[in-house]
Amino acid sequence: MEQELEKLRSDAAAELDQISSSGQLEDFRIKYLGRNGQLSGLMKLLGSVAKEDRPRLGKLANLVRGELEKFFSEKSAALLKQHDHSEKPDLSLPGRQRTNGRLHPVTQCMEEICSIFASMGFSIAEGPDIELDHYNFAALNIPEHHPARDMHDTFYIGNSVLLRTHTSPMQARIMEKQPPPIRVIAPGKVYRCDSDITHTPMFQQVEGFLVDRNISFADLKGVLTVSLQKIFEKDLEVRFRPSFFPFTEPSAEVDIACVICGGDGCRVCKKTGWIEILGSGMIDPEVFKMVGYDSEIYSGFAFGLGVERIAMLKYGIDDIRLYYENDLRFLSQF
Ligand SMILES: [Zn+2]
Repeated sequence: MEQELEKLRSDAAAELDQISSSGQLEDFRIKYLGRNGQLSGLMKLLGSVAKEDRPRLGKLANLVRGELEKFFSEKSAALLKQHDHSEKPDLSLPGRQRTNGRLHPVTQCMEEICSIFASMGFSIAEGPDIELDHYNFAALNIPEHHPARDMHDTFYIGNSVLLRTHTSPMQARIMEKQPPPIRVIAPGKVYRCDSDITHTPMFQQVEGFLVDRNISFADLKGVLTVSLQKIFEKDLEVRFRPSFFPFTEPSAEVDIACVICGGDGCRVCKKTGWIEILGSGMIDPEVFKMVGYDSEIYSGFAFGLGVERIAMLKYGIDDIRLYYENDLRFLSQF
C-alpha cells in the first residue's frame, strides 16, 4: 500500500508534465482525484490493512492527496496564464451589441421645422438664453409697467437681466444690425415660471419674421398655411383669429383643424375641432422705429410657435412633461 501510494504520486507528477490543455488537466483530475479515481480507490483499501498500520497509511494518503491537489491548482493557474498570452481573438464571434443614441423627439421636431422654413428661404439665427430686459420687452414695444409683462412669468436674474421668455428678442437683435430685406427664423429655449400638464419651465420656440417692401397679411397667411401643412404632412385647414401682441399689429392667433379627431371634436381640442398652434401678426411700426427701419417703406410679419406643442400633436403625446423626464422607454420610441 505504501508503495502504491508512492507510485501514484510519481505517476501523477510525470503525467502532469505532459499536460498542455485544460481538457487534459480535467482528465487528470478525474483519473487521480475524482470520486472514483485512483486515490479514492486506494483509500477505500485502508479499511482492510492491519489496524496498527492504519494511522500511518492514512496520514500518507492524505499527504499524497494534498500534493496532487497542489499540482492540479498550480497547473491550472499556469495554463490560464499561458492562455491569456497566446490565444488569438476569435474573429468569428458576434460583436458586442451597442444601443444607438438618437435625437430627442423635440430636437427632431425642431430640426424638421427649421428645414421646412429653410426650404422657403429663411436663414437660421440663434441668440442668448440670458437676455437683457431691453430686448425681451422694451424693444418689442413692451415698456416697463406694461400689463403684457405680467403674462410672461419671467425669471429675473438681475434688475435688467432675465432668462428670455420668448425668442422674439431676436427680432430686435437682428433688425438693428441688418437692413431689409430680411427673412429669418430663430429657434431656441425659452423660460417661464410655469409647470403643469401643458407647461414646463423651459420649452422651445421657433421665432420667424420677414421684412421687405410690400409685405402684407396675405403673405403671412400664405407662408404660415404652407409651413403648417408641411410640418403636419397633410392638407389641414388653418384659420386666423384676431388677437393682441404688443409687438404686432394686427395680430392673429393661428388654429389648425384638430389633428387628433380631424375636426369632429375630441378631448385634445376641447370639442371645438380646432387647436391653437401659434401667434403671429404684422410687425408693429413701433418696433421698426426702435431698430431704425422706415415703416413707410417696409412692412413685415412675425410669428412664434412652440415646438413641444407641435411635437405633442404630431406624436399624440398628452403630457408635455414626458419629454423632460428622460425615461429611455419613452424617448427611444421616436
Ligand atoms: Zn380634436
